[in-house]
Amino acid sequence: MYTRRSLRLAPDIRTSVRLSCRCAAFFVPDVHMRILVTNDDGMASAGLTALAEALGKLGDVWVVAPDRERTAVGHAVTLHKPLRIHRQAKRAFAINGTPVDCVNLAIQNILPGLPQLLVSGINKGVNLGDDVLYSGTVSAAVEGTILGIPSIAVSQEGRDTFRFSAGAHHAMRIARLVLEQGLPEETLLNVNIPDRPLARTTGVRVTCLSRRRFDDPIIEKVDPHGRTYYWIAGTRVSWSRNKDSDHEAIAEGAVSMTPIRLDSTHYDAMDRFRAWESLLKHSNHRTRSPRMKRKA
Ligand code: MN
Repeated sequence: MYTRRSLRLAPDIRTSVRLSCRCAAFFVPDVHMRILVTNDDGMASAGLTALAEALGKLGDVWVVAPDRERTAVGHAVTLHKPLRIHRQAKRAFAINGTPVDCVNLAIQNILPGLPQLLVSGINKGVNLGDDVLYSGTVSAAVEGTILGIPSIAVSQEGRDTFRFSAGAHHAMRIARLVLEQGLPEETLLNVNIPDRPLARTTGVRVTCLSRRRFDDPIIEKVDPHGRTYYWIAGTRVSWSRNKDSDHEAIAEGAVSMTPIRLDSTHYDAMDRFRAWESLLKHSNHRTRSPRMKRKA
């Protein structure tokens, strides 16, 4: 990990680190920061504007975001239609693609060089627990991490209204720490902000991902042409109880900060599956499933 300390010891590697490092964050105090801001709620979202404004205190903010809302597109990449870049201001660009498209176009075609930081958000609504698998907000930060850029996803609790100025303040303070202290290799931060005024927030907590269950069924209805259609709602939700979880922190009015790593390999389970290697090795004579065998 390149920290402020290691750079101080070897200042001549700063430029090459900036160009080639695929790993941790680093802090170059004398160079002006370049910060990439994106989201999945689209260019018009007030959460994006609040975040970009707050991060302006730390460096040059480049906004590259979807031209419309792309919530819950996850890590989708657009492969089957052309992408267009629409410049909306000096350093603000809207793209007709997904959050992950935006990150890639920003890095390869828009920014003058790699950013020192990527911040995605502020999302309208929390991204807790299993949400990270569906969330376009988090996926943009995952993509940044894959590309070697220290990345943060920021989401805000709320329903119809969102306290984005409080959220942006928390996001800026965490972003400043990331710039100063770096992130571990292949690790991003998933930040969630409680729906509280700044003064009533109960602190910042390091958390683990919670587990959630959707309790509402998929709604089945019939359209005016007599055809059945379905609606996935996802409004009734129950959570597993874990005092260290992101959900618990938000419930108690704290900012939740979950470190997430790219490598989801279950290392402890590898030994168990190694036994399958030999079972699967000479399986030509056992191609039928056990049930088929019984029938025969
Ligand atoms: Mn969203």
